[in-house]
Amino acid sequence: MSPKNNEPVFQTLALIGLGLIGSSVARAAKAHGLVGSVVGHARSAETRETAMRLGFLDRVEADPAAAVADADCVMICTPISAIPMVTKAFAPALKAGAIVTDVSSVKGSVVRDLAPLLPSGVALVPGHPLAGTEHSGPESGFAELFEGRWCVLTPDAQTPQEAVDRVEQLWRGMGSEVEIMTAEHHDKVLAITSHLPHLIAYTIVGTAVDLEDDLKGEVMRFAATGFRDFTRIAASDPVMWRDVFLANKEPMLEMIQRFTEDLTALQRAIRRGEGDTLQDLFTRTRAIRRGVIDAKQA
Ligand code: NAP
Repeated sequence: MSPKNNEPVFQTLALIGLGLIGSSVARAAKAHGLVGSVVGHARSAETRETAMRLGFLDRVEADPAAAVADADCVMICTPISAIPMVTKAFAPALKAGAIVTDVSSVKGSVVRDLAPLLPSGVALVPGHPLAGTEHSGPESGFAELFEGRWCVLTPDAQTPQEAVDRVEQLWRGMGSEVEIMTAEHHDKVLAITSHLPHLIAYTIVGTAVDLEDDLKGEVMRFAATGFRDFTRIAASDPVMWRDVFLANKEPMLEMIQRFTEDLTALQRAIRRGEGDTLQDLFTRTRAIRRGVIDAKQA
């Protein structure tokens, strides 16, 4: 699905939150002619000024209600914990027929909190682009961020199909592949593919820091081994990830439980010198890497 007759998908897109994701959406949507104009809102004057200086917005507003007033699509790009407060502030100003969407990394609990705050006549199309970096803020965004990446949409039975189609058109126009699934399924899939890996990275780097007195010099000096990749992931935004783990509580607890059991099995194999157990697992996981490369997600 691509924009019809070079018409923009939305005349006015309002972005609430102008960090890595919000500023990348603004840049990509403009670069591909998907929107007539982009209005933005962020909490701090500094971020709003930076956004205007960088030139990816047509207008910035200090008041979220003023930002959404003319918008036919509003995309919430704040950390998860800010969504209820900022939505309460802009919801009364939404146009009838407007579409609200978001980019949060967790869908079930976010939608449960967000949906009741919207007036009737406004469609909610929850979304999550599976794209990002460890950097934050308006200066870290770029127009190509979503190219070749998945964007998951999690509408429910009440969501008007036309609203889903238009949000899908926007993401496809920015270069993403779009997949539709339930919020519950999304949260389980992301718990294992994204959230648990981040938790493991935070844990390993935290453990190394706690060994600081004995090892720190060596940790930094020899970081070029596997540790380096973990430090990149563990540099991800602390507020965003605090919110993700708390918002995706049940799927996370289930994945941590399964992971702990598997880790314990490996611990036992090492203790008993069961090399075959280790080698069998590592052979299976090596094949997974091949699959990820073939799916162009490496
Ligand atoms: P970010 O770079 O830290 O930007 C967050 C933005 O939200 C900033 O502009 C911030 O404004 C604004 N904000 C924070 N609290 C606010 C409030 N109360 N009212 C209005 N604006 C507020 O974050 P991000 O990486 O773009 O992440 C945003 C969302 O995208 C998160 O929900 C995350 O789950 C999702 N996501 C992130 C990634 C990723 O890799 N980063 C990938 C996919 C999805 P100030 O600068 O003024 O504080």
